[in-house]
Amino acid sequence: MKKTFVLGLAVIFGLAMMAGAAAAKTTFVTIGTGGITGVYYPTGGAIAKMVNQKRDEYGIRATVESTGGSVFNVNAVMSGDLEFGIVQSDRQYQAIHGMAEWDEAGPQKDLRAVFSIHPESVTLAAAVDAEIKKIADLKGKRVNIGNPGSGQRQNSIDALTAAGLDYEKDLMAEQVKAAEAPGLLQDGRIDAFFYTVGHPSGAFKEATAGRRKVRFVEVAGPGIDAMIKEKPYYAKSYVPVDLYPGAMNDENVDTFGVKATFVTSAKVSEDVVYALTKEVFDNFEDFKKLHPAYGVLTKEGMLEGLSAPMHPGAEKYFKEVGLLK
Ligand code: GLU
Repeated sequence: MKKTFVLGLAVIFGLAMMAGAAAAKTTFVTIGTGGITGVYYPTGGAIAKMVNQKRDEYGIRATVESTGGSVFNVNAVMSGDLEFGIVQSDRQYQAIHGMAEWDEAGPQKDLRAVFSIHPESVTLAAAVDAEIKKIADLKGKRVNIGNPGSGQRQNSIDALTAAGLDYEKDLMAEQVKAAEAPGLLQDGRIDAFFYTVGHPSGAFKEATAGRRKVRFVEVAGPGIDAMIKEKPYYAKSYVPVDLYPGAMNDENVDTFGVKATFVTSAKVSEDVVYALTKEVFDNFEDFKKLHPAYGVLTKEGMLEGLSAPMHPGAEKYFKEVGLLK
């Protein structure tokens, strides 16, 4: 009797120890995304979902945070506030080379690439009543270029500059978050806004579904062409307008674009980066179904558009499956 009791206690104690050890081993990681009406936010959710399905195997619990966007995410990953971030490919390039927002701080040496994701286009939407038909028509208008911390702010400035406009003098530039811009446009408080985002996005659905008529405006022309040639991280792109039935456009609208990329820090462990990479790529067809913007993705393509050194955890997986030599 006594023996059984002691044995029973030992078993209970042993089980409690094991449960304690399992709980202690859970690694929490947070993915920095963007506004909730963008594509980064659901993308962070999609990546988290893939790895959380194997929580028992990896002991990883991934969560998603809505943030100000690319520049915020690079800085938060570098400071260790976030383990992962979704970042425009041009911003990844600038951070690793110490350009733009990182001009003073210098190259962000610990930044590591994991993989790239969907294409993003520099998208300009304007109220039809504001009579903005080309980018030069933004002169004298009230335009949201994007919040500091966002990826799009620099894209808007580059586009305006290439079109011969000084964003500080030639227009009234607002710098609010993209999530607020559709409401301001519908309320008549701005005439147009820029957002660098994958399509379809909640932000442009909202912007084109209101009472005030809205159209996409091309971000193209000789000045823009010259800029794309000069900057290695920009490429021609377009806005697929059939994804927005409310927009006053009949044809796709020319612009330029970048890619969304998934980044981390050299300080994040190989095991964690390996697990996230493996779960997205091993379950690629399931992953692709999680957002219409992933329709064009290929595994090979997701290794392109990266400028920071690849994290060893991602490299290990890509070599294992033959995506990298
Ligand atoms: N490209 C935007 C940025 O870097 C975010 C777009 C999104 O959230 O989908 O700030």
